[in-house]
Amino acid sequence: MTPIRCAICDQELSIHERVKGDLCSRFECKQIATRVYAQAKTSLKNQQLEVAEVIAEQVSAAESFDQQSRNLVPVVIPSNDNKLQHRTKAERRKFLDRLGSLISQAAAVMAGHSSVVSDDVELEPFDSESPERQFAEVQVTEQTAKAMLSACAFCRGKCCLQGKLHAFLTVKTLLRFMRNNPQLRPREVWQRYVERIPSQSSEGGCIYQSSQGCTLTREMRSSVCNGYECKGLVEVRETAAEDSETTMVLVSVCEAESMPALSTAKRPPGPVALPVIQIPWTVQRVAVVADGTAKQIELPESEPVSSD
Ligand code: SF4
Ligand code: SF4
Ligand SMILES: [Zn+2]
Repeated sequence: MTPIRCAICDQELSIHERVKGDLCSRFECKQIATRVYAQAKTSLKNQQLEVAEVIAEQVSAAESFDQQSRNLVPVVIPSNDNKLQHRTKAERRKFLDRLGSLISQAAAVMAGHSSVVSDDVELEPFDSESPERQFAEVQVTEQTAKAMLSACAFCRGKCCLQGKLHAFLTVKTLLRFMRNNPQLRPREVWQRYVERIPSQSSEGGCIYQSSQGCTLTREMRSSVCNGYECKGLVEVRETAAEDSETTMVLVSVCEAESMPALSTAKRPPGPVALPVIQIPWTVQRVAVVADGTAKQIELPESEPVSSD
């Protein structure tokens, strides 16, 4: 049998190590692997920005582009391209059971029977290692808010895929909603949340993630949902806030869901150079955002732009 070797130090892997992946158990190899992945992510972001800059130049130069301003700011945003699907009965039941429990707990607090808000519900968090994790508490103008909404609509809610069957709802979310609407009885609160579940939602994503975006009102959403901004959205907000006349070119990109295996790393020449891995990605769509409104455009060149 051909020996399987560590992707970093080339030492033959033990049976235990093989089960875990393509890395030996030495601390140095793990450290190098972490750096290789960090480098791959940085390189990915740089590649995307470079491609976005080229696209913005192409858009600016295109004859059909009749905007007065030719100073276009490229912004890279994610994209959700999952299809819509009907939820299974079991999935619906799971969501409804949890919703019922949250409402009961919030109602008990409202009635003074409980002061403990157990928001220790297991939610799958956003990638806590990601620098993109931000919860903005900033006030924005109507125009900036419009540009941000356009960007999220254009992305189609990549971040909302993480809402799955919990939608980030917690006891505190329900408590806030019920305090804002004291005339509603728990049964009516339940009805409000249930009637907003769309018949189909994004495959593998949040139960409220419809083709038109989130079907909950902002008041009904969790503070995570109301405050989350990915890095691209932060850029949209800051660019729009700086100068409302700026025209943005949104380049939505699709990245590989999982990291490539370390065994695919290429070793550049030189004794100290780190192995390099490439994270596959492509440009999905391009839109021009002017006056807060996004308009999808065809890429100026017919060839799709990608990392290759
Ligand atoms: S915050 Fe970012 S990932 Fe989420 S919908 Fe908006 S653009 Fe997409
Ligand atoms: S509740 Fe709405 S905003 Fe929150 S994750 Fe689901 S679809 Fe997105
Ligand atoms: Zn090793």
